[in-house]
Amino acid sequence: MQVQFCGANGEVTGSSHLLQAGGHQILLDCGMIQGNEETERRNAEPFPFDASRIDALVLSHAHIDHIGRVPLLVKRGFRGPIYAQEATADLARIMLEDAASIAESDVARDNRKRQQQGLPLLQPLYSREDARAALARMKPQPYDEEFEVAPGVRVRLRDAGHILGSAAVEVWADGRKLVFSGDIGPRGTPILRDPADVDGADLVLMESTYGNRLHRPRGDTVAELGELFAAAWNSGGNVVIPAFAVGRSQELLYWMAEHYDDWGIGRFRIFLDSPMAGKVLEVYERHAELFDSEARALWARRPNPLRLPNLQVTESVAESQAINALHGGAIIIAGSGMCNGGRIRHHLRQNLGRRNAHVLFVGYQAEGTLGRLLVDGVKKVKLFGEVIEVHAQRHTVGGLSAHADQAGLLDWYGRTGGRAPVWLVHGEDLAREALAERLRQRYGSKVQLSRPGMTVTV
Ligand code: ZN
Repeated sequence: MQVQFCGANGEVTGSSHLLQAGGHQILLDCGMIQGNEETERRNAEPFPFDASRIDALVLSHAHIDHIGRVPLLVKRGFRGPIYAQEATADLARIMLEDAASIAESDVARDNRKRQQQGLPLLQPLYSREDARAALARMKPQPYDEEFEVAPGVRVRLRDAGHILGSAAVEVWADGRKLVFSGDIGPRGTPILRDPADVDGADLVLMESTYGNRLHRPRGDTVAELGELFAAAWNSGGNVVIPAFAVGRSQELLYWMAEHYDDWGIGRFRIFLDSPMAGKVLEVYERHAELFDSEARALWARRPNPLRLPNLQVTESVAESQAINALHGGAIIIAGSGMCNGGRIRHHLRQNLGRRNAHVLFVGYQAEGTLGRLLVDGVKKVKLFGEVIEVHAQRHTVGGLSAHADQAGLLDWYGRTGGRAPVWLVHGEDLAREALAERLRQRYGSKVQLSRPGMTVTV
């Protein structure tokens, strides 16, 4: 079995790895590259393989940096089955239809200007029709049951505890076993179960997003969140929270439900400003069988606890724009999680200049994104062609991450047996180097960093 690294090598987006196994070509993930406009142009470049010759695709989870180019793969000739955990398949439908409609409307807007200027018109990366064609190829699978993705190539999905449906992928072929971690969640994440143990491997491809960081204990972070909401209420401003539509948004609602009374959550107006957030909540409600025991207990006490009485899920543009009239007392959760697109940019435009506003970062901010600039403390940003001086208070709440920290990653690898050689993917180089060093120290394993285009043998 061989692995060719096709994406997320030295960066945290664009996840994609090509397996040559049992005489077949199996692709693991086909993610979108995310960052600034220039970085994202790389998405349109040719794949480092012939899409029509891929026999099957296996998806680790539904985040767009792992599935965002699946419709493009189909548009470019892929005709095989797509395997994903059942909840991932449900979430992928929402994510890809949304990604396609954003791509279509962005291009339509640019094309109106280009037409006036007599410039050639642009094509979207893919259309909603391409997304639907891709989704029709989906073959949902439960956790923990082996299935064949091509003759002689067997796969099993193990709960990765990162988002609903997230999986570490075990692959058996040619008498060898490969484990691809996907994104690994921290233990103790609400709603989700802890990552399942993966028993043994001949080679491990492992994420390393927070390979050089330790998160604050979750309990401390949750307490801090309560204090931030209280401070925000007292300062009279809004709280703006960039969050991916899947994962952190639901965790935030979970903590607000859990602490509804002691945090005084009832006095805020809460907006989940996302056309797809309501649909994502439905997927959560449909897959309660994947919840951990605490979440099952909360759901048993109160049906649909994430649908807080003062929560408004805003779908239309008009509803979203109406939030602009609120200068205080609102908690606004919107995507994209790294502020490189989506409705969050409108809320930042409204609130960044206000001294009494608070911006809460609860997820990873990749290099080159607006979120990263804000976390790094820039004084001015450009939004919609307008320079905005940043006066709002910025807070990074690291302990709510959907990714395991260095200790969690070391622990996860130990649970695979702690002996297999490791290739670190999906992390910036500083994080990968730090994690590699710690893995070598603790387990004496051979640990290397993937590079784009490199092929390794399992
Ligand atoms: Zn992810």
